[in-house]
Amino acid sequence: MLTRIPTAFARYAVGTLAIAAAAAAGYWAAPLLHDGGRAAPQGAAEPRALSAEVSEGVRALIASGRYQCCLQNPCTYCFTDPSHQERALVCDCLEEVVNGEAPCGECLGEILEGKGNPLLAEYFAAAISDSLGEAYLPVLREKIEATYGIPAAQQVE
Ligand SMILES: [Zn+2]
Ligand SMILES: [Zn+2]
Repeated sequence: MLTRIPTAFARYAVGTLAIAAAAAAGYWAAPLLHDGGRAAPQGAAEPRALSAEVSEGVRALIASGRYQCCLQNPCTYCFTDPSHQERALVCDCLEEVVNGEAPCGECLGEILEGKGNPLLAEYFAAAISDSLGEAYLPVLREKIEATYGIPAAQQVE
């Protein structure tokens, strides 16, 4: 009967964390605030309204191998942020996550909302703790376990 309390705690703590992390990363994740930090139910379609220009631009960069995101649906932050434009990899969030480094603020928030690429789930907690601090690693592992079904013990250190 240990499951209820940690889950409730993790949901509360990670909701708070996500907002702090988004603010720290300079990205204001409006949806997180809007619903009080609660994770959206899985499968609840919430299509982002992207301009045709942005989605075409991201698609072209993906096709040329220059946009490697860690989400199921790639972020747009890296596309719209001027400091990313000149890079060989306009979005390198995937590489960052796998190397234990925090991805962009949009990806960080979306991962906590359950929208990360599930094949990368074992890397998420370590990568996000790179931004938030190692003290958050245990609660992040629990959150990733609850969200992506990867047991905390199987997540990378
Ligand atoms: Zn990403
Ligand atoms: Zn990104």
